[in-house]
Amino acid sequence: MANSFLGRDMAVDLGTANTLVYVRGKGVLLDEPSVVALNSTTNEILAVGHEAKRMIGRTPEGITAIRPLKDGVIADFEATEQMLRWFIQQVHRRAFAKPRLVVCVPSGITAVEQRAVKEAGYMAGARRVFIVEEPMAAAIGAGLPVHQATGNMVVDVGGGTTEVAVISLGGIVTSLSIRTAGDELDAAIVSWMKKEYSLLLGERTAEEVKTTLGSAFPLPDEPEADVRGRDMVSGLPRTVSVSTAEIRQAMEEPISAIVDAVRTTLDQTPPELAGDIMDRGIALTGGGALLRGLDERLRHETGMPVHVAEDPLTSVALGAGRCVEQFEALQQVLVGDGRR
Ligand code: ADP
Ligand code: MG
Repeated sequence: MANSFLGRDMAVDLGTANTLVYVRGKGVLLDEPSVVALNSTTNEILAVGHEAKRMIGRTPEGITAIRPLKDGVIADFEATEQMLRWFIQQVHRRAFAKPRLVVCVPSGITAVEQRAVKEAGYMAGARRVFIVEEPMAAAIGAGLPVHQATGNMVVDVGGGTTEVAVISLGGIVTSLSIRTAGDELDAAIVSWMKKEYSLLLGERTAEEVKTTLGSAFPLPDEPEADVRGRDMVSGLPRTVSVSTAEIRQAMEEPISAIVDAVRTTLDQTPPELAGDIMDRGIALTGGGALLRGLDERLRHETGMPVHVAEDPLTSVALGAGRCVEQFEALQQVLVGDGRR
């Protein structure tokens, strides 16, 4: 597949949970978990993406499956770089024409980390590497008119971070990034099941419980389901039945942290822009936007209209992709000149 995309400009959404690669003129061609499995002694890469994610919680001695960007910071630079190169090379093999690359990173990462990400892009064969801030890409991808003189609010709930931003005239006016998002919801379910049922759940199971049973606001019908884990007393597998209401209660702390981040940002928004948001509403992107009732909860607590983006898991990649499609027109939102 690689050869037909030689030399094309690309955009990468380097997310804490998922990495997406957009190729100019083609669209999103790769969408894989941001996970790397390494040989613990040699540090050699054994698997990346879906295959590596399946290994989480299932690795024998000698293999570690890591999420290098887990908390919105680059915890493991070498693994991040290797992962980024591996993903880029899936859609682009070495060519004569070196492409331009737009990389979207969590806005909490430091300047040093940004430089590290750029370096990984050059090593993967890019001629120029630009950074775009995640909320900006999310807003563009969600179809907000970021260049107009109007207030646009975007809330991107990812795996490791929630990014809240108000954008006007092509720039970020106010923003807030917190390290509470999907992963914290999973962790809250794990600790609830431990405390209430003495049942140990794996990370993957907790995520599944969240996506199938979880909600942020009471639903018209509240399903129940069986959850399987390991009994902390007997050490044996055990199944318990839990309700949606209970899982909502389990996730209450991180959910209210996300709601608070939105309220705080609204508080700090200049009045004209706040008025625009009141009219136009808040755009919800990122995988966390798929949590049932999160839109309703935010509507309820902020009094603002809330719209979930059409395909929230791809908003950022589509927004970064738009930057490579309309490079000159959107250059203003890119950070730096792309040079080393
Ligand atoms: P990032 O940009 O940080 O990589 P994503 O935008 O890809 O994150 O979102 C990943 C998060 O979205 C994960 O925590 C995942 O569990 C969560 N998620 C995905 N689908 C759903 C769903 N249907 N309900 C709730 N959360 C979901
Ligand atoms: Mg993201």
